[in-house]
Amino acid sequence: MSTFISYLRKALAFSIFVAAMSTLPIGAIAPEYRIAYLVADQLSLGGKPPQQEPLVVPKAAPVKDNPAASMPEMPKLVVASAGTAVQPAATTTPAPTAVGGPTLTHVVTSGETLSGIANKYKLTVAQLSALNGITNLDMIRPGQKLLLAAEPPLPVSHTVRNGENLSYIAAKYGVTVSAIIQSNDLPDINRLKIGQVLNIPSASTGALASRSAVSSAGYIWPLTGSISSFFGELRGASRHSGLDIAAPTGKDIKAARAGRVDSAGWMGGYGYAVIIDHGEGYKTLYAHASKLLAKAGDRVVQGQVIARVGSTGNSTGPHVHLEVRMNSKFMDPLKYLPRR
Ligand SMILES: [Zn+2]
Repeated sequence: MSTFISYLRKALAFSIFVAAMSTLPIGAIAPEYRIAYLVADQLSLGGKPPQQEPLVVPKAAPVKDNPAASMPEMPKLVVASAGTAVQPAATTTPAPTAVGGPTLTHVVTSGETLSGIANKYKLTVAQLSALNGITNLDMIRPGQKLLLAAEPPLPVSHTVRNGENLSYIAAKYGVTVSAIIQSNDLPDINRLKIGQVLNIPSASTGALASRSAVSSAGYIWPLTGSISSFFGELRGASRHSGLDIAAPTGKDIKAARAGRVDSAGWMGGYGYAVIIDHGEGYKTLYAHASKLLAKAGDRVVQGQVIARVGSTGNSTGPHVHLEVRMNSKFMDPLKYLPRR
């Protein structure tokens, strides 16, 4: 009899144990099992794995987006256990938006066209293809990164090392000795100091020859002269918003592109300056003039003389401060002007 009671007790205890186990919250179960539960859950939420349509990753599964979740490998587990057409790449489908803070690049998604992308960013197809060197307009592919604006220039400077002279440095960068002298205002070319930092005019921007050519972006040089300061150079706390082209006072300044004169007159630090609106969000500015030959509202053709070189406003010597602005953003003029 006592053995029967003992048996009953054991049986009762066991059934209580089983009941307790079945009511345990998921979280109390070992992690491996918990993952298995959630995988099953995800699959049921996500429905059948799609065959052809673009994959819809089960967004309904909140664990995936929960930074506190202890299972960063969930997507992989889904793939492994499902053994279907689910692609891990689909979880990182590139968003059809620009990358980075200021809109600079666009990742092409399937079905997009060059004109569609150009429209989206208020560019013309010509501008977009020029920026990206695209010749065949049908040749864009998903995943391709498109430049939407000229990138900031790379710093071009050289720190003089022991044993280097100007001809060595010029040869190294493929520029002329005189271009380096002009860019650095060197008083004595034989006295380079070790550690001295030289501005290296890029091979395409050294001493400028004749400038009749039109760039692929549609610009001409407004005048010939040497670059005395590049776009993006540090000026105290800010950066140089344009390109300085040194030239004698009185020299003609030509419109880099056709357009309508937005304004012409005294503009504070710019001195006497002209701003031309070229449409499609593009404007050019020519500053420090000694004389203005165009007025607001004038239509000008490319190459038309609009002003004469001077040193008015915030300037240390006769030059043109040239700006290219795209939707009020300062761009590097050298990205728009013809290469030598
Ligand atoms: Zn300037």
